[in-house]
Amino acid sequence: MLNAWEAQGGDPQRDARTTVVVVGGGFSGTLFALAAAAARLDVVLVEREAKAGPGLAYGACDPRHLLNVPVARMEVGLKPSFAQWLKASGADLSAAIEEAGGDLARAFVPRALFGAYLAERLETALAARNGRLRRVRGEVVRVSDRPVPSVTLSDGRRIEGTHVVLATGNLPPRPPRTRDGGVYDSPLFVPDPWRWQDIDTLSPDAPVLLIGSGLTMVDVALMLEARGHRGPIWSVSRHGLVPHVHADVAGRLGGVEPFLDPTEARDPIRALRLIRAAVRQAAVRGVPWQRVMDAARPALAAVWAGWPQKARERFLRHGRTWWDIHRHRMAPRIADAFGALVQSGQLTVIAGRIASLDLVPGGVAATLRRRHSGRALSLEVARVVNCTGPRSDFAGLAVPPFDGLRETGRIRPDPLGLGLETRGTALLDRYGHASTWLHALGPLSRPAFWEVTAVPEIAVQVHQLVEELARPASRRQRPDARLIAEFVDLGEGI
Ligand SMILES: Cc1cc2nc3c(=O)[nH]c(=O)nc-3n(C[C@H](O)[C@H](O)[C@H](O)COP(=O)(O)OP(=O)(O)OC[C@H]3O[C@@H](n4cnc5c(N)ncnc54)[C@H](O)[C@@H]3O)c2cc1C
Repeated sequence: MLNAWEAQGGDPQRDARTTVVVVGGGFSGTLFALAAAAARLDVVLVEREAKAGPGLAYGACDPRHLLNVPVARMEVGLKPSFAQWLKASGADLSAAIEEAGGDLARAFVPRALFGAYLAERLETALAARNGRLRRVRGEVVRVSDRPVPSVTLSDGRRIEGTHVVLATGNLPPRPPRTRDGGVYDSPLFVPDPWRWQDIDTLSPDAPVLLIGSGLTMVDVALMLEARGHRGPIWSVSRHGLVPHVHADVAGRLGGVEPFLDPTEARDPIRALRLIRAAVRQAAVRGVPWQRVMDAARPALAAVWAGWPQKARERFLRHGRTWWDIHRHRMAPRIADAFGALVQSGQLTVIAGRIASLDLVPGGVAATLRRRHSGRALSLEVARVVNCTGPRSDFAGLAVPPFDGLRETGRIRPDPLGLGLETRGTALLDRYGHASTWLHALGPLSRPAFWEVTAVPEIAVQVHQLVEELARPASRRQRPDARLIAEFVDLGEGI
């Protein structure tokens, strides 16, 4: 067994201190570890991959994949800032800076650079913290508070602490429910595009079907294009809507004050009306709607918290697609490249559903049913790639450590299938009591916040939890008193 002080270099004096075991070293876990160590907490960061820092979003990408927000929006309170680090990195940012009218803060740079920045910050902190911050490589399979909070790794090692923070990010996507004729079990189905093992063996002329039409689909289409793919690409989703593009980053955008009063935006229809009215007012001043969407973000957690369950359900059923394509936007250069694929006829986006998939010699026969006409479209493709985005439903999930936590009643999946129920970041047990030792950061905690999947929101969440844990135990707030009201500081960014 590796207990907290052994994991930290064998100083038993530290036992009485707050020691946080963080599960997952992606963006959320890494930023927490850095901020907590800076606040003089003891931290053990457990990550199963060889590299901690980039996580899925900023690790599994090629140079073509850009951040979908400008540099200024990726500042998370570290020193040097991301912009300063970029300037010193020697990376070729000419295209990004030119597109942003010479202003690095407004530039959309490759995602991998943000991953490298986080990894480097972590390495520096690991070297400097004299054992206060430790990194352990391993897969956490069990989390328990008996007799003290601890995690157990797949090789049997156990790490004790005073708190455990789950920062395991998004779950891999789940295949759509469709008659798949054995395709999902075949090598012709790519269940998770970020782990596409045999992409290099795909013939450049092979037809490919991408299920989904969001940012993941755009990423995969551009990934294929960057590899010289010439074959036809189809994307299918219920509405056939693709993400919008960010406003012209070099132009003058004008200001929109953060708005959306939770007491007025009491349900999705009212919220939508308020946003539309703000868009119209902004348009009169020549301010693009994108700026209005961004200005709505600080209030979203409070708005969401104020909606009853039925309103949330209505939003997810009727408003989610609309929300996603306006909120999760493409960088302009990405939109240009994607637009060129569509214009050339290589990529076709279809609104409809998959009626059936069947294995045929050398490929997959797919029958799509178009949304409005109901007409069938038959395709034969070499690969079917699941681009539907992450799974978030923990209810039936048999994946450790969540299965054990659910069985022992330490966590409670939310009924809408968005993640795990929390008050603030404190996980709720099966009776709805907020934990004093177990927390969740990032996408896992979506049920309480809705918008907590991107860097600015997660950064606020991380800093609030660090502040909380850095207080003496007697002065910590009851977790149920914590709701993030002023959620995102938009700063001077776009
Ligand atoms: C493709 C993509 C692009 C994005 N681009 C942007 C962007 O441009 N701007 C923006 O603001 N947001 C972006 N986001 C959203 C956001 O930044 C991510 O959702 C965020 O990085 C989540 O980080 P995370 O650490 O919570 O999860 P992850 O990055 O998924 O990290 C979780 C880590 O936990 C580890 N782990 C999981 N289970 C275990 C276990 N049992 N034991 C040990 N380790 C474990 C995993 O190996 C992984 O490293 C993007 C998201 C994606 C998916």
